Amino acid sequence: MTRTAAAPADAEARRAIKPVICYPNETLPVPDLPLYRQARRGAVKAGEVMAQPRDAACFEVPAGHFFRISSVEGPQVGDLNLWNRNDLSERFYSGKTRALHGTHVTAGERMWTSFPHLRPMATIIEDSLGWYGIDQYGGSVHDVIGTRCDPYTGNLLAGSQYHHCCHSNLTRALAGHLGVSAAEAEPHVHDVLNVFMCTGFTRDTGQYFMKASPVRPGDYLEFFAEIDLLGALSACPGGDCSAEHSSDAAACYPLKIEVFAPAEGALGGWQSPPPNGYDRSHGCA
Ligand SMILES: [Zn+2]
Repeated sequence: MTRTAAAPADAEARRAIKPVICYPNETLPVPDLPLYRQARRGAVKAGEVMAQPRDAACFEVPAGHFFRISSVEGPQVGDLNLWNRNDLSERFYSGKTRALHGTHVTAGERMWTSFPHLRPMATIIEDSLGWYGIDQYGGSVHDVIGTRCDPYTGNLLAGSQYHHCCHSNLTRALAGHLGVSAAEAEPHVHDVLNVFMCTGFTRDTGQYFMKASPVRPGDYLEFFAEIDLLGALSACPGGDCSAEHSSDAAACYPLKIEVFAPAEGALGGWQSPPPNGYDRSHGCA
């Protein structure tokens, strides 16, 4: 951004005020990670699907099951959408997840659903890139700050007609899975969890940046499904997003999605979280 207004006399004093966290998250319900991880150890594989390069795949995960997204052939970023399998209007809420957990997510953090539900839909239980932290540029992995690459922005900036952006890949996959048209599927596609993507904001201009993902074949991100899920994962045309996206220029690899079913009784007294408790009257009489 460009700043042109004249600074007031106390500008430095105003800038020196310490920030406060918008949403202190100590009161968030804490997921029982030891229980989830123990149940995962005894779980058996129940399904597998591959998201092919510059394409997307859908998958379903019953509540209480697990899913793992893996890099298999080369460094590759994935754009993940999640819905309540029984009500597609309840879907991943990237902005609120960002407000609650920060710009990037890792093990122990959760993906939250849209209003009026606002409940955990998936909990990250393992992250093989958890070592990365925040680099010298302010970059980190698995962001909830980007949207998803899309053909509209490409058209706006470059006048292009490109059909294998994540937005279009997710639309095609969802349309195929539901047996509906692209026009019917498209409004369900939403801002993503950028799996394996390494991003941040530049300190000088505040612009969204990406850099080559540290992901390598064998790396994975693993989730516990808190509610019945329908997922869609796009293998981004940007590949490792080291240079560009929204084109066929980058080396692009598939991503593997595996679903695991827990053993009977492995989750003890665990229950799928109820919808948010706000009464929805909004002050109306
Ligand atoms: Zn993309």
